[in-house]
Amino acid sequence: MARKNDTLCLHLEEDEGDCRFYGAVSFPIFQTATYAHPALGQSTGFDYSRLQNPTREHLEKIVAQLEGGIDAFALSSGMAAVSLLSELFELGDEIIADSDLYGGSIRLFDNVLKKHGVKVNYIDCYKTDLESVITPKTKAVYIETPTNPMMNVIDIAATASICHSHNILLIVDNTFLSPYFQNPLKLGADVVIHSGTKFLSGHNDTLAGFIVTNRADIQEKLRFLIKTTGAGLAPFDCWLVERGIKTLAIRMEKAQKNAFAIAEFLSKLPEINRVIYPGLKNHPGYEIMKKQARGFGSMITFEVKNKALVDKILKNVRLIKFAESLGGVESLITYPTTQTHADVPENVRLKNGITDCVLRLSVGIENEEDLIEELRQCIIHNA
Ligand SMILES: *Cc1c(COP(=O)(O)O)cnc(C)c1O
Repeated sequence: MARKNDTLCLHLEEDEGDCRFYGAVSFPIFQTATYAHPALGQSTGFDYSRLQNPTREHLEKIVAQLEGGIDAFALSSGMAAVSLLSELFELGDEIIADSDLYGGSIRLFDNVLKKHGVKVNYIDCYKTDLESVITPKTKAVYIETPTNPMMNVIDIAATASICHSHNILLIVDNTFLSPYFQNPLKLGADVVIHSGTKFLSGHNDTLAGFIVTNRADIQEKLRFLIKTTGAGLAPFDCWLVERGIKTLAIRMEKAQKNAFAIAEFLSKLPEINRVIYPGLKNHPGYEIMKKQARGFGSMITFEVKNKALVDKILKNVRLIKFAESLGGVESLITYPTTQTHADVPENVRLKNGITDCVLRLSVGIENEEDLIEELRQCIIHNA
């Protein structure tokens, strides 16, 4: 019988019944740069840690297993993953990207990819007819769902079938839901990206990134690229991420439970204009989420009634930290306008609804009542 997701967070199927490495239950950290060879033309399977390292390989297998891919690549950050992936494209290629993406991805596309002659066209994938913007030069569609930070939901299977009928790749940044709640490859995507810094490692203490694929041709190109460009994740950081993944299931469940309570609490406050959480039935993407994901996650975006309230909330939070990032055990509140999305052109940001009254909450695993009390203090008592 196939192992379930929560079990797969803890155990690699091929390790079952294995007592390698003295039976160590925690996979060892192979802190080595290089590997000795028994003789000319022979190898242990490992030659040099830029190419591969046992700790990294173990983590990559776990992430590949969780996403249902044939291989995964562990990189030094989420941006290192997006950057490595972008090496698949060349001068004259075009990529269609959703306009509501992590700001760092937009910065990479508009500054680095552009320099290499790869053009990125931004559209609102949740509402635009994709067919109408595909050109003969289009090589890939790049999306996040739910999007960051506006939480628009894109139908992955429908998007994948359009991409495949035009022979173009569908790349999905699955950071917001993690493989515990959503598996884009199983819905037809070709490549999944993760900022492993977020839910996968889960403790706001490590930077990491992943590319996962189920296509052998892409796997082969990426193995060449990781060896050549050298941004593979260091052994100790691999171990930290692997340790984080062991509790992915319980962290995701607890954070989601808190998020539901907070979204409902915020929805009732007159000081809040709108609460965008895909688990609320009034969210336009609710039905698609139910179809393609096993949960709604723990990211909430909300708009307060005026900028003065933003200032007060960010000055008064104590338990919740005013910080960039998301997906960790500690709750964080982010101001996309000056933080994650500062490099998104202002007209695009405003068109997407990221006004100067929008805040993004990454709900952690603290006690639900403590979090609500903290928000009540910051919002109501200061309004
Ligand atoms: C944080 C983030 C990234 C970038 O990852 P880093 O690990 O910070 O480099 C990419 N995509 C999304 C959706 C993110 O939240």
